[in-house]
Amino acid sequence: MTALLEVEDLRVAYGKIEAVKGISFTVEEGQIVTLIGTNGAGKTTTLRTLSGLLKPVGGRVTFNGKVLTRVPAHKIVSLGLAHSPEGRHIFPRLTIEQNLQLGAYLRKDPAGITADIQRAYDLFPILGERRKQAAGTLSGGEQQMLAMGRALMSQPKLLMLDEPSMGLSPIMMQKIMSTIVELKSQGTTILLVEQNAQAALSLADQAHVMEIGTIKLSGSGQDLLHDESVRKTYLGED
Ligand code: ATP
Repeated sequence: MTALLEVEDLRVAYGKIEAVKGISFTVEEGQIVTLIGTNGAGKTTTLRTLSGLLKPVGGRVTFNGKVLTRVPAHKIVSLGLAHSPEGRHIFPRLTIEQNLQLGAYLRKDPAGITADIQRAYDLFPILGERRKQAAGTLSGGEQQMLAMGRALMSQPKLLMLDEPSMGLSPIMMQKIMSTIVELKSQGTTILLVEQNAQAALSLADQAHVMEIGTIKLSGSGQDLLHDESVRKTYLGED
């Protein structure tokens, strides 16, 4: 089986500081793959590079058979790779519905767009109830849902989620995590960056532990959930 996403020896630097120091991993179609690790490990930098917002200094990224390394960000979206960024980045003055419509800006199928907005409301009913409200009035968790809904509006083959549980209550976090599993069952492949290692490993098919720009450990979510060093370092066990 060829991978949907293949990352080979990826290197990314901010000036002289190398934030990602040659990482390699793959994402197979239909999988949930997670990158976990402490602050500053390079997870966000990796996602921003995959979506074309940062240019790597080395390595190669292949998505759906196409080399992405020199492809601009908007083209990457049109190839089927969407990014729900850390800190959400919704448009606070626009309504929820307008935010969702913006996620479909490259599409030209109005009926399909309307159907997908409805799908976002089915996934997150609160968004449907508030559809005419300015997005800035939503709670943090609701904004996170909107960011995910908006990323889905490009009908991605691969959805990249950066810290979707950040700042959420346990109930909201559960909701987001169960939605990720639901999206997988509907055929979306997911690359998930999370600080909440327990939650991420519980639902991941494959997981990679990042430390200071490198991948220290890889395995199935279940294997890493039971790995002693992971339990000590990332799951807070003695
Ligand atoms: P977090 O979970 O805290 O977001 P992360 O694993 O996503 O961490 P990154 O945000 O990718 O880590 O950061 C990796 C390294 O790159 C860190 O040392 C960080 O300080 C540095 N870095 C990130 N953004 C910039 C920037 N714009 N300019 C310079 N250095 C940066």
